[in-house]
Amino acid sequence: MGPTNIALVKLFRADQQLRAAQQRLDSTTRSVRIQERRVNDTAEKLRSAQQRLREQQSQAAQLELDLKSRDEHIEKLRRQQQDTRSNREYQAFLVEINTAKVDRGKVEDQTIKAMEAVEQEQAHVKELQTMLETEQAKLADLKQEISGKTTELQADVERLQPMRDEAASAVSVKARHLFERLSERYEGEAMAALAKPNSRREEYVCTACNMSLVPDIYNRLHARDEPVLCPSCQRLLYIPADLPVETAVHVKKTPKPRGQAESTSGVQAET
Ligand SMILES: [Zn+2]
Repeated sequence: MGPTNIALVKLFRADQQLRAAQQRLDSTTRSVRIQERRVNDTAEKLRSAQQRLREQQSQAAQLELDLKSRDEHIEKLRRQQQDTRSNREYQAFLVEINTAKVDRGKVEDQTIKAMEAVEQEQAHVKELQTMLETEQAKLADLKQEISGKTTELQADVERLQPMRDEAASAVSVKARHLFERLSERYEGEAMAALAKPNSRREEYVCTACNMSLVPDIYNRLHARDEPVLCPSCQRLLYIPADLPVETAVHVKKTPKPRGQAESTSGVQAET
């Protein structure tokens, strides 16, 4: 292959190594990321519960104030009732007091309900606080557990990154852009090797999509210095190390004389 394709294959290998290292790092830190999400979710639930609790507490406090002022009002009516000398006024106060008592009863029911809600929410907040502490402790444990491993894998990534960068800088800008675009699209599988399924036939397939390629494809990759795409999957094609020109290209066989079976004895005449 020409220098362009050789550089592309080197970039492809360096890119795959880096991606594999990155993947190892990601899968090791995944459990921590999942736990971090759990901690954040629980903290969020706790914040909402605390907010609800504050609202319910203020509502209950207002109802209690309301109840207190109603008690005072009823007390005042009672005193006025005691002070009156007229029976009609006395009866009128009685009606007013009874109405006030009925209304007070309704407010008292609301207050009891509001206080029950406060109690429930307080228990909920407490439960969430405990849960949050548990999840935070789990997170700390997980971080501790993988810290050595993560450092090692991070070092791998940092070691492979400059190698990948160097391999990339050896490829022409145009071919590099093509590679990066394909690498993005195929998650690192930007290139595909040629394969020759039948050693006796000059036929090639793309090992990524298994589609047949024109016989000329080998020569184009071998002799010319240009990126060649698989017409079917659009990946960059390359000649793998196990397909050197001796194995790949059809060696012209001597034509067999008509009607004669193939012979290995070498009696056929060379043309
Ligand atoms: Zn293909």
